[in-house]
Amino acid sequence: MEILRTVADCLRWSRSRRSSGGEETSQLIGLVPTMGALHAGHASLIRAARARCAHVAVSIFVNPTQFGPNEDYARYPRSFDADCALAQGEGADAIFAPSVEEMYPPGAATFVEVEGLDSRLDGASRPGHFRGVATVVAKLFIAAQPDLAFFGQKDAAQVSILRRMVADLRLPTEIIVCPIIREPDGLALSSRNVYLSADERRQARALSRAVRWIEAMAAKGERNPAVLAEAARQIFAAEPLVRVDYAELVDWATLEPVESAAPGTLFAVAAWVGTTRLIDNTILG
Ligand code: AMP
Repeated sequence: MEILRTVADCLRWSRSRRSSGGEETSQLIGLVPTMGALHAGHASLIRAARARCAHVAVSIFVNPTQFGPNEDYARYPRSFDADCALAQGEGADAIFAPSVEEMYPPGAATFVEVEGLDSRLDGASRPGHFRGVATVVAKLFIAAQPDLAFFGQKDAAQVSILRRMVADLRLPTEIIVCPIIREPDGLALSSRNVYLSADERRQARALSRAVRWIEAMAAKGERNPAVLAEAARQIFAAEPLVRVDYAELVDWATLEPVESAAPGTLFAVAAWVGTTRLIDNTILG
């Protein structure tokens, strides 16, 4: 497995891999963008990429521009050696792990904004977050030139933003969305789960409980988004360490609130558990 540190090296890797099978074979390049601290959720993305692509790169980059000034950029978990071992074990061919200066050269002034969508859901409570995400993913796509890029449904709003970006810029990369991987008790895997105390960890189950409850209510025919959102809030109200940021039913493409929940509607929640902000969601069936 190659470790690539610069955009030029990543581009060279991608070009050489693409042509490695000769002109007759199509050699799909897959990219799995991550911020490291890899867990079984990331592993599932790498496996999905492995299943569809001849060559798989995993990027590991804690992207400063998607963190707010009072967020956890400095203390975000970093475990490069273990990440490389996990990625290699899942069959990754290359790790792209650039420095901040490589991704943001001194004086960098170019950003990608997906207007409108970027102020919905997490974008409302984390101003500038999706601008940072769209910008870094555009840069990763330029470096790795992937045919397919694999993202988790766990970050459902991120998927909407990136699909809009790919459509608007007519980027030659297809976004593939993979299911949310959970702990046995339902908690969605997240690199931030390590921040939770034992009490917080217990109460954090409220997020997945709310998701399952809303799925069940919708399956029984409840369509009113206000009723569904209120039911979710009641679940959080029972947990003193949990403070809801949002619990909303939205159109997954536009992130606009829906008037009536329907198959394909995104139910998304974000909550503070102690000082840790967690997210979860479901696409109604
Ligand atoms: P991150 O390293 O947290 O930025 O996440 C990198 C990618 O892994 C994103 O596409 C996430 O949506 C995805 N991901 C994170 N947690 C999970 C999970 N529990 N299940 C599936 N994918 C996940």
